[in-house]
Amino acid sequence: MGKLFSIGEILVDFIPHQKGIALKDVESFTRVPGGAPANVAAAVAKFGGTSSLITKVGKDAFGDFLLERLAEVGVKTDKIARTKQANTGLAFVSLRGDGERDFSFYRNPSADLLLEASEVDDSWFGPGDVLHFGSVDLVDSPMKKAHVKAIMAAKTNGAIISFDPNVRLPLWDNPKQCRETIQEFIPTAHILKVADDELEFITGIADESVAIASLFTGDVLAVVLTKGAKGADLHLQNETYTSAGYSVKVEDTTGAGDAFTGAFLHQLLKLGAGQDNVEALLKDHHGEILAFANASGALATTGKGAISSLPTKDEVLELMK
Ligand code: ADP
Repeated sequence: MGKLFSIGEILVDFIPHQKGIALKDVESFTRVPGGAPANVAAAVAKFGGTSSLITKVGKDAFGDFLLERLAEVGVKTDKIARTKQANTGLAFVSLRGDGERDFSFYRNPSADLLLEASEVDDSWFGPGDVLHFGSVDLVDSPMKKAHVKAIMAAKTNGAIISFDPNVRLPLWDNPKQCRETIQEFIPTAHILKVADDELEFITGIADESVAIASLFTGDVLAVVLTKGAKGADLHLQNETYTSAGYSVKVEDTTGAGDAFTGAFLHQLLKLGAGQDNVEALLKDHHGEILAFANASGALATTGKGAISSLPTKDEVLELMK
């Protein structure tokens, strides 16, 4: 079975114990690993896949914490560089009364953003592997070159490339640059995961089907549109498959998209997907792949946090019954 490689940001999220309190008044927090690429790597590892995170953390206590927590869920950490030049990234979260989150980042820049191309090795990737990337911090960050190198090496070596732009607009000082960077990377991917509420921002097109069609540029073979509680659509060049979501008691939606993506990519790895057969496999197995991914995303909303609420394979299969 191929391996999952996930590249990009990682940081420690500090989640307050109380809701509806300004950050300056929060007295106690729980530390959890954060960052979308780390969540996707953890999801695949928890399903039993071989999963590595490619990133960088500081030679500090928070770097130790992240490596330990990732290893605990089975993520291989040997491709995580360490540096004394920068600290591990931190984010202090405040939970507004309505449950939405505000972030205060301590990353000036953090170690993950300083990942260098020389710290990515072409020989890591092979046919049947998947390289996933996607995070806001690609823009103007030194790690952009590391992403470009990983994507080119993985693709040349026969791996499938997966991209989740992960737009979180309130975080962006420069939405135009954000969109341009996302659009620059889209053609490099075979599979795109886009949430319905970010589609118009990414494409600049209001009509959903026109917007989806515009995403089929470069190497893109499939666009997965996630729709929260409503489930997801899988768009191929000439077909669209829809899969309804699962009804669950929602506690915290953080990481639902990453749990969905991890489950989706794990199914592809299990089916032996490669660049030449991935489209055919998606056609033949769309029902089971989407159902597994929707159930995984749904279960991730039933617990607090991202990595801590990732489901096991048995829990996903139970919900699918
Ligand atoms: P993102 O988390 O990336 O913004 P979505 O909100 O679309 O993306 O969620 C991703 C997937 O997680 C959905 O396609 C669905 O399978 C699942 N999911 C998200 N929210 C819910 C919910 N409230 N109830 C059930 N499933 C959900």
